[in-house]
Amino acid sequence: MTTTEPIPTTDLAAIPAEVDRLRVAVRQGVTRPIEWREAQLDGIIRFAKEHTDALIDAMEADLGRPRIEGWLADVSSAITEAEYVRKHVRKWAKPRRAKLPLNALPGSARIVPEPLGVALIISPWNYPVNLVLEPMTAALAAGNAVALKPSELAPATSSLIARVLPRYLDERAFAVFEGGVDVSTAVLKEQFDHIFFTGSTAVGRVVMRAAAEHLTPVTLELGGKSPVIVADDADLDVAATRIAWGKTFNAGQTCIAPDYVLASAKVRDQLVERIAAAWTTFFGDDAAASPDLGRIVNGRHHQRLVDLLDGQPVAVGGSHDASARFLEPTIVVDPDPTSPLMTDEIFGPILPVLTVESIDEAINFVNDRPKPLALYAFTSDDELSGKIMGSTSSGGGCINHTLLHFTPHELPFGGVGPSGMGRYHGQAGFDTFSNLRGILRKPTAIDPPLLYPPYTDRKVAALKKLT
Ligand code: NAD
Repeated sequence: MTTTEPIPTTDLAAIPAEVDRLRVAVRQGVTRPIEWREAQLDGIIRFAKEHTDALIDAMEADLGRPRIEGWLADVSSAITEAEYVRKHVRKWAKPRRAKLPLNALPGSARIVPEPLGVALIISPWNYPVNLVLEPMTAALAAGNAVALKPSELAPATSSLIARVLPRYLDERAFAVFEGGVDVSTAVLKEQFDHIFFTGSTAVGRVVMRAAAEHLTPVTLELGGKSPVIVADDADLDVAATRIAWGKTFNAGQTCIAPDYVLASAKVRDQLVERIAAAWTTFFGDDAAASPDLGRIVNGRHHQRLVDLLDGQPVAVGGSHDASARFLEPTIVVDPDPTSPLMTDEIFGPILPVLTVESIDEAINFVNDRPKPLALYAFTSDDELSGKIMGSTSSGGGCINHTLLHFTPHELPFGGVGPSGMGRYHGQAGFDTFSNLRGILRKPTAIDPPLLYPPYTDRKVAALKKLT
């Protein structure tokens, strides 16, 4: 693992003029033509393909993350999403026919997607390529100019994107602001037509407050504690492997990582044993020596995770090394539900497993807490998975797997309540960055006076019949 230099920070005084520059491009109609949008998507695809190795190097330097994880979750998924959007954008951008009720005839109605204008995209460090390129794909496909603020906590990736990506795009409609909270705060003072924020729930509140000043609509892709409910009838080997994988992919620093598990006393110990066994299969007897387990992003987060374990009943793992930012995959059985481990998003390779007496108790446990970004249910019984999904709420989730609902282009991705608002991926992303304008066209050849005053008794009677 190498440690990268901090990034150069954007000059705060230059921000307003940069945003104005983007607004001018939008006003001049630069971003509207479908050919322009397709060219930007081609640019994103070419950038990611031509710089795959450099992007993966940068993520390895920033996060100490296995290279294949950088490919799978960041580069390859961003390319396939951009290719999918590139293929469909012409169709999505076309006016959509809407039916009219009899009393609105004669006439025709269309929903016309139009660009919102200048979109601000603020990204986190944990998937620093994907969470820049996928929102940008949606924003550019919908014909917007983009102001981007990548994360200062992934400095090598931020710097590569800021230096190289503009060469692949129309620079009249793209600006990058590099830096930390001061830059973000200054950018948020400007007026945008949409803000797409991915990050923590706490900063999501800051972003929404800033957006309220200009009444700017927001998409908030936030975090939270995503539960896993394992039923007694689940295939325990498969459940254990898939939970173990979801918890340690990117060292658990994934917004939709399984945060904690709820299982009955009947299966809990077997599940814990099998999750531990899966980790041994993944990382060998000495996880610290494994090249396949990512590291914790920085010393502050490492210490935060170590503190979460303080005084907890650790059943598996628990070792750590601050100098290598290493944390062994760890299971805590039945922690105090009011301890920070069970109230804060974990965002690391620590898995609390809690005993419940029944599926109903598991459902109540979930429903007593803020609505999560993802919910995972493991069971072989369709009726039971239907009951679990039907009596809880979450942004998304999987039955009998973890994490994988992020990738299908036709599954809108997003949170609910404190885990976020708004959706993207595929057409959902296109629609998020569009104003779906409802336009009614009426012929002028006939213009019955029924609607217009004076409201005579005859007109009133006729209107009441028709409406
Ligand atoms: P973060 O909220 O600390 O930072 C995100 C971005 O906001 C960064 O670019 C940062 O510079 C900026 N920022 C930080 N503090 C700010 C402030 N006070 N004012 C204005 N801007 C500020 O999040 P993070 O640590 O980078 O990422 C981890 C969090 O993101 C976790 O909670 C995780 O669940 C969440 N996340 C959510 C998704 C999703 O798709 N829902 C995806 C990845 C991460």
